[in-house]
Amino acid sequence: MLGTVSFTKTTRGNDFIDHLEKGKVIYTHCKTCHADFFPPRADCRGCLPSDREWREVLGAGKLVSYSQLQ
Ligand SMILES: [Zn+2]
Repeated sequence: MLGTVSFTKTTRGNDFIDHLEKGKVIYTHCKTCHADFFPPRADCRGCLPSDREWREVLGAGKLVSYSQLQ
């Protein structure tokens, strides 16, 4: 599994992990103030309670580092 340890605190539910396992990286977008959050957040820090949506990160990226738990 990918990234489960570092992202569990910032997600509510398993949407982020579910998408990672399908090969997709997603973030949250606040429909009210148009802020983007990565790692995804359950709530917008600017305008609680927020009306958020999940969006997929598009394009190429560069992996900076990773770790593997055994
Ligand atoms: Zn907001």
